[in-house]
Amino acid sequence: MAVETTPRRSKAANDDEPGAGQAKGGKSAARPQFEKKIIALVYDFDGTLSPKPMQEYTFLPKIGEDPKAFWAEANGLAKKHGADGLITYMHLMYKKAKARGVRIDREELVALGRDVELYPGVDDWFDEISEYVRIRAESQGITLRHYLISSGLTEIIEGTRIYPRFHNVFASEYWFDAYDLPYPKRVITDTGKTQYLFRINKGVENLGESINEHMPETERPIPFSNMIYFGDGDTDVPSMAVTRKNGGYAVAVHPPGKHRTKCVDLFKAGRCDFFAPADYRRGSDLFRRTCLLLDRILADIRVQEETWRIRRSTAK
Ligand SMILES: [Mg+2]
Repeated sequence: MAVETTPRRSKAANDDEPGAGQAKGGKSAARPQFEKKIIALVYDFDGTLSPKPMQEYTFLPKIGEDPKAFWAEANGLAKKHGADGLITYMHLMYKKAKARGVRIDREELVALGRDVELYPGVDDWFDEISEYVRIRAESQGITLRHYLISSGLTEIIEGTRIYPRFHNVFASEYWFDAYDLPYPKRVITDTGKTQYLFRINKGVENLGESINEHMPETERPIPFSNMIYFGDGDTDVPSMAVTRKNGGYAVAVHPPGKHRTKCVDLFKAGRCDFFAPADYRRGSDLFRRTCLLLDRILADIRVQEETWRIRRSTAK
């Protein structure tokens, strides 16, 4: 199987993977193949792969802001003015930087990403989990992809050492030279995250293309049943709900040793299939439970492929 490590932002899926995209409905390609062989692991960032919101490691210290005070001010402002919380924080960060005479451009924001802390095992997770699938599905043309959907900042994520691991990254982003202050270009809210799940599902990853056009389930390259969504809390509820309601899986994580109750609540409310401490090392509960879900997805793909073969052989 192919393990993809190069990010290809804003690029439509399936242009380089055998069996994934050609032969819509089994009609157009010379040798039709079963198409639904891409597995997508989709991650939230803040609190899921990294212990704290990414701005707290670098940007806020750089402009001399206490994180607690900053978020309280941003949330207070948003509430007072009925403004979107994410747009408000993105604006406030640069307003404060300007007031203090600190200039932070795109390159600097990317550089700040290097200091973002990751949970234990995250660095090796992508190779380890890919290896798990490779051993079990190498000969079957199954492809594993990692995606990131975050309300945090694209530029900071770009600077982290795991950025090259993602097939695509959907995150909030600035327009740096549009106005006096950088202006929010794309803001990914909790519910807005679900749009990107559908983009992955439909293979419409180019943000310039509309996601709203109808696409029959049979033509969607990555069915939800091939997806696992990883998140850490209430902001992930819409994504977990959408993924699970469409036949996919959700895993909740909490900081090792604390805040377990949040995950227990999500589990009891049927928001996630499993939860575990955010320890990504091989042999951890998170690793083991993810592998259980992967076993199930791999088995499902094999069953569906067999059914597809039988259906083709009996169609004449
Ligand atoms: Mg989070």
